[in-house]
Amino acid sequence: LGINRSTVLAAYRELKADGLVDSHVGRGTMVLSVMSEVTESHSEFEAPLYTQFFSRMSERANDPFLRDLLVMANREDVISFSAGISAVETDPVEAFRGIEEEIVRQPYHEALKHTPTEGFWSLREAISDLMQKRGVSCTPDEILVLSGSQQGIDIAARVFLDPGDVVIIEEPSFFSAMQIFNAAGTRIVGVPVDDQGMRVDVLEHLLQRYKPKLIYTMPTYQNPSGISMSLERRRRLLELAYRRKVLIIEDDPYSEIRYEGPRRPTLKELDPYGYVIYLSTFSKILFPGIRIGWMAAARPVVHQFAMIKQLQDLHANSISQWIVERFLRSGSYEPHVKRICEEYRIKRDIMLDALMDGPIAGLEWVKPMGGYYLWCKLPEGIPHMSLLVNAAERGVSFVPGTAFYLNGRGGQYMRLNFTYPSREDIPKGIEGLKEAIAVTLNK
Ligand code: PMP
Repeated sequence: LGINRSTVLAAYRELKADGLVDSHVGRGTMVLSVMSEVTESHSEFEAPLYTQFFSRMSERANDPFLRDLLVMANREDVISFSAGISAVETDPVEAFRGIEEEIVRQPYHEALKHTPTEGFWSLREAISDLMQKRGVSCTPDEILVLSGSQQGIDIAARVFLDPGDVVIIEEPSFFSAMQIFNAAGTRIVGVPVDDQGMRVDVLEHLLQRYKPKLIYTMPTYQNPSGISMSLERRRRLLELAYRRKVLIIEDDPYSEIRYEGPRRPTLKELDPYGYVIYLSTFSKILFPGIRIGWMAAARPVVHQFAMIKQLQDLHANSISQWIVERFLRSGSYEPHVKRICEEYRIKRDIMLDALMDGPIAGLEWVKPMGGYYLWCKLPEGIPHMSLLVNAAERGVSFVPGTAFYLNGRGGQYMRLNFTYPSREDIPKGIEGLKEAIAVTLNK
């Protein structure tokens, strides 16, 4: 049929969630006919058409891309270059085992109780010490613990943006942020990125033209391009924000995952006036299932974020907060960061070597100095959706560039993650991908 199995399965899952099909072990999947149910029960009522009840906001959020990415990342029959997740080989499970044992030994341990919405105080202290090491001086009450930093982007949209407001993002940008701003009903305007990061000269014109409220940026090892903003542009960006009175969300999950090149200061470190709202996470340094991130910002911003967060989930998972706090205070954090940087640099180089071994004309990439991703430019004119299918048939996944651009642009790019696949799988996956490119080009 030319339709791939996972697409069909995804479609079934969606129909099932909508209540339109039902499946039973041994009987397969069947369409639930609302009409036949009505005739059988002779009732004047029928099941509601749920979609009619969905809010405008939830309609705008109607893109299953993120959910599907998670499903894809958990499949064992695929070499995944698509998810941005940590390597299982280096996950610090041993260190965590001791901490967990300590928690279960007491019948009603602190970690089993609620914490304040802003987070467990001792963790906020430990994070403010970590911020100090990242060059930012802030007090524990300027830290808010999040259930992952993506929650921080969502809360930022709720705290600062009304439908119709303008938000500036880099292009390419992080797809979740784009989906969040889209769901919020905002107008999203993109600024191009070059090898020095965000084009602040273009930004200057856009600020004048659109009067945005917020700029969302990933200055260090940007997702997906891997590019870092130069120091000069960082300074210029801040100056423009002060002049035009625009707040900046600095999303910084990757700056400690550095392989080579200079350490650049965070925008937060360079910002004496408090225009920068800094987000980071333990997802990339520890592992994503821990679901602990944080925001560092001025106290009124922390307060307002907490007002929204209390409505969402009261507070981040107490056990996770406790584990991270212990981990940070145990002295294990720095050796762990060193270890993952070594491992991920090796994996990056394996991927680069595999790409260079028998190169494909027109396939280009940016060598990342840090972070999780290799950003590739595909040969001119290649149909990216066919490439995705051809790669999936060879058991390889990647994220097409369109996920990171507005209005369907970016099809000539793909993002490859090199931290999650094993050292052995990387060359195999690249081989499959090259084959898929060749097949797609020759069709
Ligand atoms: N921001 C960026 C730039 C990311 O790449 C990610 C993870 N893919 C996040 C935020 C979200 O991280 P978390 O797991 O903490 O929600």
